[in-house]
Amino acid sequence: MLRAVPGSNDIFPQAKEYPFREPVFRHIVRTAEEVLRNAGAQMIHTPIFEQLEVFQRGVGLTSDIVVKKEMFVLEDRGGRLLALRPEPTAAVVRAYNEHGMKVWPQPVRLFTWGPIFRGERPQKGRYRQFHQVDYEALGLADPLLDAEAIALMVRIYRTLGLRNLEVRLGSVGDPEDRARYNQYLRGLLMPHADRLSEESRARLEANPMRILDSKSEQDQAVLAELGVRPMLEFLGEEAQAFHEQVCRYLERLGVAYTVDPSLVRGLDYYVRTAWEVHHMAIGAKSALGGGGRYDGLSEMLGGPRVPGVGFGIGIERVAIALEQEGVVVPPDPSPTLYLAPLDEPAKIEALALAEQLRPRVYVEIGYTPKSPRKALEDALRKGAQYVGFLGEAERTRGVITLKHLQSGEQREVEPFQLHSLFEE
Ligand code: AMP
Repeated sequence: MLRAVPGSNDIFPQAKEYPFREPVFRHIVRTAEEVLRNAGAQMIHTPIFEQLEVFQRGVGLTSDIVVKKEMFVLEDRGGRLLALRPEPTAAVVRAYNEHGMKVWPQPVRLFTWGPIFRGERPQKGRYRQFHQVDYEALGLADPLLDAEAIALMVRIYRTLGLRNLEVRLGSVGDPEDRARYNQYLRGLLMPHADRLSEESRARLEANPMRILDSKSEQDQAVLAELGVRPMLEFLGEEAQAFHEQVCRYLERLGVAYTVDPSLVRGLDYYVRTAWEVHHMAIGAKSALGGGGRYDGLSEMLGGPRVPGVGFGIGIERVAIALEQEGVVVPPDPSPTLYLAPLDEPAKIEALALAEQLRPRVYVEIGYTPKSPRKALEDALRKGAQYVGFLGEAERTRGVITLKHLQSGEQREVEPFQLHSLFEE
């Protein structure tokens, strides 16, 4: 029997693991959509694959996604290399440029949700296909937009009912600040290269900043011993002022945050603002989402200069956090009416009646004729308000026997009466 690829998951109502329960998943997406639409963001769907270059140039050659070969790359028949999207931002910026959104009133604020693909080692909270809600505000380099993005992200989590959150805010500075910082790190770490993990040694030349994010205890011990100064101390004047403005705006908005002076994010394209939201109860894989500013990304993709800021929310991670906090997701509605055929000819009568009512009423039918007692059990299991029996007696009289399940009250009604009954 064939099975799903490890690290990919089916999402359906009865799924054993909470993050793959479809109503939970849908609740997260809908809540995010409501919050973002209320803020005037418009929905966009980009293809789930793009030319490899979009992501290669976008996420940067030194990011984990490229270095660790985490992208799923395919070759089409013309020999072109395509990639399943490992993050949505580069694709959204590509679309912005391709459709000339630069001449629209700025900022252009877009959101999307869908699958993301990364060839990582699967574990709880880390999958090879996972899903994100993604928001991008493009075309204006104003710290107001950074603050708004952070506030919107937090509001999505709060609306869902999450409490145990921490917003960690940092700045990765402008490219020249980063160059200075990387220079400093190289100078500091080179003499200790032999004590670093192989992965970090490889990063020493191209992107030493990423060493700070290393999961290796050995690396972290070296960093602690050397007393590495954080990125935030290397900000140039402009990046510093921008960072302070974001902080002031967040305070005005009443969004709680902690400044994380050494926050570095996985993708190379970030400039200035970078943030992550963590959930304090879900352990190591605690990041519920992250975001940042990426003013140079559009140019990397061959477009004009388009400043931008945005975030990605990991849907499965949020589901895990909801489970941890015991947040109850609203249950799916149950049927108003369960129509039960009691004999063969009643099957199509039940379906025909259901079809008549369905434009306005949630109606389910029993697909196999059963005794009234069995049919009643089925209706109760479905949580229906009413059960309607259709058998030979009903057919001859042109009625259905309608029973209100809560009160037990039973009567015969003619089909045309049902409309008005359920519309109350
Ligand atoms: P990133 O684009 O890496 O900043 O990821 C944004 C968010 O997506 C993270 O904070 C996680 O919530 C989620 N995420 C990232 N990678 C994975 C993964 N492999 N499996 C599940 N969720 C993920």
